Amino acid sequence: MKESATFFETQPVVLTQLLRSLKHERLAHAYLFEGDNGTGKHEVALWLTQAFFCLEGTEGQPCEACNNCRRIAEGVHPDVIIVEPDGQSIKVEQIRNLQAEFAKSGFESKSKVFILKDAEKMNSSAANSLLKFLEEPSGKILAILETAALGRILPTIQSRCQVIHFQALSADNLQKKLVAAGISSQNAGILTALTNSFEKAVEISQKEWFNEVKESVCQWFDYLSKKDPQAFVYIQKKLLKVLPDKERQNIALTLLMYFFQQHLQELVKKNQKQEVIKINQQLHLILEAEQKLAANVAFQGVTEQLTIRILGWNTQI
Ligand SMILES: [Zn+2]
Repeated sequence: MKESATFFETQPVVLTQLLRSLKHERLAHAYLFEGDNGTGKHEVALWLTQAFFCLEGTEGQPCEACNNCRRIAEGVHPDVIIVEPDGQSIKVEQIRNLQAEFAKSGFESKSKVFILKDAEKMNSSAANSLLKFLEEPSGKILAILETAALGRILPTIQSRCQVIHFQALSADNLQKKLVAAGISSQNAGILTALTNSFEKAVEISQKEWFNEVKESVCQWFDYLSKKDPQAFVYIQKKLLKVLPDKERQNIALTLLMYFFQQHLQELVKKNQKQEVIKINQQLHLILEAEQKLAANVAFQGVTEQLTIRILGWNTQI
């Protein structure tokens, strides 16, 4: 399968737009690819570079097999320059070197492409230097800037580029990507309930507390769904220790919601209507608990009240 097949699935709007320009030979001189990390900006930048140089392409699409396409994929094409931050920032010397490279004509053709990764990390002199370059392009060049923080790119640079927005991944695609990155499919499912950012999901999965939080909430869910009174004791005994801060407390309620939703789906499949109604009510209670936590009500109070309501103790008094 071609490498490009995955982002044709995950970024159909971007690809349709670029293909249309390629077909009509109406590429812009400069693009600004904007979107979360993990949305495929760099992969698409390389694909567009291949399309730009491809010897055998059809309908604007690169063949991904010719000499040019292969060298671009391997990072050894002499007329393709990729600039990334040197430490914390992209420095003015890096942009000057780039300009010097471009002042020479292309090694093999008159065309050149440069790709600037993490473009928001340009310091202001680098940004100004780049701006001049974008204003006075020499020869046939294609510039592709990539950023996950559009707000930190100078408006003057934005206005010189065609801005292409990369959508956050759908839950399904995010889950597939996480599995491809080596995360178990169970964890991938859970992580997509917590965030729609690939980078954030990976970050959460790498927290040393992630598994303990997940297992504790799973145990709590188990007690709650069986109406086991231990659900109440478990808050003191375990949850308060495992969830000492707001971040983990929020994640815990989202996870609880996730486990109840999974449970709900099973019941819907089995057509157990009465049970489905009950679970829906419980999901409402969890939503209310999330709102209380957001309004700074103490976690212990929020979870104890939630547990009492799910167990139905409040109606028995
Ligand atoms: Zn090719």
